[in-house]
Amino acid sequence: MKRERSTKVVATLGPASDTENKIRELFEAGADIFRLNLSHGDHEAVRQRHQKIRRIEEEVGRPIGILADLQGPKIRCGTFARGSEMLVRGQEFRFDSEDIPGDKSRVHVPVEAVFSAMTPGASILVNDGQIRLEVNEAGQDFARCRVIEGGRISDRKGINLPDVVLPLAALSDKDRDDLEFVCELGIDWLALSFVQRAGDIEEARQLANGRAAIMAKIEKPAALECFDSILDASDGIMVARGDLGVEMSVHEVPPVQKRLIRRCRAAAKPVIVATQMLESMITSPVPTRAEVSDVAQAVYEGADAIMLSAESAAGKHPTASVHMMHNVALSVERDPTFRQIMEASRTGIRETVTDAMTVAAREIAETTEVKAICCFTHSGTTGRLISRERPKRPLLILTPFPEIARRLCLLWGSHCVVTKPIDSFGEAVLDAATIARREEFGEKDDRVIILAGVPFNVPGSTNIIRIAELQSCEDGTA
Ligand code: ATP
Ligand code: MG
Ligand code: MG
Repeated sequence: MKRERSTKVVATLGPASDTENKIRELFEAGADIFRLNLSHGDHEAVRQRHQKIRRIEEEVGRPIGILADLQGPKIRCGTFARGSEMLVRGQEFRFDSEDIPGDKSRVHVPVEAVFSAMTPGASILVNDGQIRLEVNEAGQDFARCRVIEGGRISDRKGINLPDVVLPLAALSDKDRDDLEFVCELGIDWLALSFVQRAGDIEEARQLANGRAAIMAKIEKPAALECFDSILDASDGIMVARGDLGVEMSVHEVPPVQKRLIRRCRAAAKPVIVATQMLESMITSPVPTRAEVSDVAQAVYEGADAIMLSAESAAGKHPTASVHMMHNVALSVERDPTFRQIMEASRTGIRETVTDAMTVAAREIAETTEVKAICCFTHSGTTGRLISRERPKRPLLILTPFPEIARRLCLLWGSHCVVTKPIDSFGEAVLDAATIARREEFGEKDDRVIILAGVPFNVPGSTNIIRIAELQSCEDGTA
């Protein structure tokens, strides 16, 4: 099973996509990585989704990435007796510390520190800014507000207080507990919400202790001010536009998105563009033209992955949403302008032997009729560097480690395959050729590029490029 598309699709799982059949359908429609959001549902629900993904992975014989998203110090409202309520402009509404289901006039907020920090006139934004209220009066355990922009408020919606500084730790007790739980389950990526400094990432990295790659969700202006150090400390980045568009003006988000994608590509670290990409498909079978353009824009910018949130987790059309992303990405990637943009926006940073080798492999792939670049990688570094080149030939990433194969699923253009342990370059050539044939990258007369390192099994030693004909590799005459 091989995808025609290079930009990856991340699909959030939730009540609308919980069954094994549905998850398989999403995978078949094009989802490469599944996101488990720890903000919703209990550990048991997360465990079940995880098990289902791993079963499907085994069944389809392709590595599937799992990204667990920690809630972080996000304030959320409690639940509602009727699940949701419509707030109308001008009405009064209270947030308070009473842990009982909400109604049209009030709801619980389980973070007490919030109330004393609020002052009259401060804005409260609900659900990625879709509902706006203004504080009239606040006490130790309540805030009385007026609705400025109405909308539907429902269970556990996020609350932003852009005018208020809250003294919250980067990882709450719940986050630590969730982190340990998902790391033990076995996930590939751990996403941290509301990262503000590199130290937040380092803390999570220590706790994860090698069990997952760490992704920073960029959703606070403070993170932009020290983005370089956050990028340095992270394995990947998510442009989390929902909260970012609330914490700063929404019109400031597109330039930020563009800048972050460029910085990530220069650093050879995968970047996901997330939130509201096909928002109207939560209820409608077709997206708006503007949403399609937004998805296309992220692909033209060279993002590694585009993400679905509520569209696939809680919407009416999860599969159609994945399909739509797949088709939009495919049409952009087939546009000659896309290739021009990828080539013109290549980074000039070339510091290591591996940098030089991956650039050379890409150049050979451009000037010859090879069918694929087969790249052996241990730690994943060579995989990241060759993906950064955005080569125009398919990228076959070979590693003996299933966890690395799953992590690298997020990389632009990667087709990851787990190999048997390999001891020599000769074995590597044979293995690459066999896998390239089996995965339908080429026929016996076709040639591929093989990128590997000798001595074998030493990380960071990529130093050989071989151009080989598939048939003669298998004959042992190559
Ligand atoms: P985040 O800030 O981490 O993105 P979110 O609340 O925006 O959190 P998403 O995963 O982006 O959550 O999904 C958007 C919406 O879809 C949620 O607000 C929620 O209504 C619904 N949803 C997502 N996952 C689940 C789930 N597992 N169970 C219930 N509802 C979910
Ligand atoms: Mg968020
Ligand atoms: Mg969201």
